Amino acid sequence: HRGWLEVICGSMFSGKTEELIRRLTRARIARQRVEIFKPALDTRYHAQDVVSHNHTSIRSTPVQLPSEILLLAGGGTDVVGIDEAQFFDESLVDVCRQLADGGTRVIVAGLDMDFRGRPFGPMPALLATAEFVTKVHAVCVCCGELAAYSYRTVPSASQVLLGETEAYEARCRPCFLAGEAAQ
Ligand code: ADP
Ligand code: MG
Repeated sequence: HRGWLEVICGSMFSGKTEELIRRLTRARIARQRVEIFKPALDTRYHAQDVVSHNHTSIRSTPVQLPSEILLLAGGGTDVVGIDEAQFFDESLVDVCRQLADGGTRVIVAGLDMDFRGRPFGPMPALLATAEFVTKVHAVCVCCGELAAYSYRTVPSASQVLLGETEAYEARCRPCFLAGEAAQ
């Protein structure tokens, strides 16, 4: 089959990893050869597995650089899944393009925005060049509306701060803005 790029984006707790695992599991059921990668720095739950907040998981290969994905997902791989794509550098965009051009179905999941609401890492270019884009939403922990923002509850200015519910909350736009104004 011909290759293409799919992107699953949204805030923290929006179900990106769940949706990625769902698609990869279905590809395996269809007897396709699936390889899954994540950035080596993301060791929050498990060194090897991609794990969702709903505790579903799938075995993955942690890599430091996008170029390792090209080397490891050699001939014969039908589907490549990549989680936490925002933590990779811009070279991920070209790696995904090369894989898709070569006939691989590439499914990328990642945060579209950082904790300040700015586009995150290679995600804007991946979204622009994908055939299919899915934006999933969390539930705002303040008011119950759909949440698109990852609000940081601990003081740190660094764009990358690994954390979960102790450091981040899913918030809708008004509750995100209210939190920013209060700081
Ligand atoms: P992501 O990869 O986008 O961070 P996951 O797929 O790991 O999301 O987790 C999604 C799951 O997180 C949901 O099915 C739900 O069980 C749980 N969850 C926890 N907090 C929230 C929230 N505020 N909104 C939606 N889901 C949440
Ligand atoms: Mg996730």
